[in-house]
Amino acid sequence: KVVSNALHAQQLGKRYGAHWALRNCNIQLPRGCIAGLVGNNGAGKTTLLHLAAGLLRPSTGSIEVLGTPSHNMAMLLPHIGFVAQECSLYRQFTVSETLIAGRKLNPTWDESLARSLVDRFKLPLKQTIGKLSGGQQALVAIIMALAKDPELLLLDEPFSNIDPLAKHEIGKVIMELAFERSLTILISSHVLADLEALCDYLIILAASQVRLADSIEHIMEQHKLLIGPSESF
Ligand code: ATP
Repeated sequence: KVVSNALHAQQLGKRYGAHWALRNCNIQLPRGCIAGLVGNNGAGKTTLLHLAAGLLRPSTGSIEVLGTPSHNMAMLLPHIGFVAQECSLYRQFTVSETLIAGRKLNPTWDESLARSLVDRFKLPLKQTIGKLSGGQQALVAIIMALAKDPELLLLDEPFSNIDPLAKHEIGKVIMELAFERSLTILISSHVLADLEALCDYLIILAASQVRLADSIEHIMEQHKLLIGPSESF
C-alpha cells in the first residue's frame, strides 16, 4: 500500500476531564517533510505528539501514522522515534551502556550513525546520563531516536536546553537525514525562530486548535497573493 501521509489527523480531539487540550484538528503531513509544531505553552503540542506516538488515545476523531491507526503500537513502535520533553533515559546508565541498550532493543539500529553522532557532539561515553547537562541528555535522547532509523521522528521541544551551536549542528543532522533517508520529522517548539530555517511544513496550534497546517511553499504563495509581489512596494 502506498501511503503518502506520514500523519493524518481527522477531527482529532483530546480531553483531560473537562478540559479540551486539542479540538477538531485536521492535519495531513506529507512523508519526507520536516514539520515545525509551534504554539504557546499549553497550546496542545505535547498532547498532539503523544497522540502521534500512540501514548494517548483520541477522545474524538482519528489519527493515522504511516497509514496505521496510532494506537497500533506493536506495528508502529519500530518505525517511530520519539524524544519526550523530559529526559526518559536511565540516569544510572553510562552513555555507552545507553547506546548498547539501544542496539539490543532495536533491530534497525544504525551503530555507525550513533557512534559518529556521539563523536560529533563530543559526548563522554563513560559518563552516566544523570551526570550529563540537560543539553547533553537531550542530545543522547536525539541520537538514540535517530539511530533507531525510524520513518517518523517526533521531537518534543528538543531545543529548549541546547546551546545555539549544538542546536545548529542538530538542525544540520536532521536535514541531512531527512534528505538521505526520506525521514519525516515533527518538531515542537514555542519559538518559531528555532524552526523556520529547518522546516518545510508548519503546524501552528493556538488555544487547542490548529490555526495553520501547510507547506512553507504554499504559505509563501498565499502570502504573495495577499500582499502582492514585492515589486509593487
Ligand atoms: P508546553 O509548551 O507548556 O509543554 P503544550 O503546548 O505542549 O505546552 P500540552 O502539554 O499538550 O501543551 O497541554 C495542553 C493543555 O492540556 C494544557 O492546558 C495542559 O494543562 C493540559 N494537560 C496536559 N496534560 C494533562 C493531563 N494529563 N491532565 C490534565 N490536563 C492536562
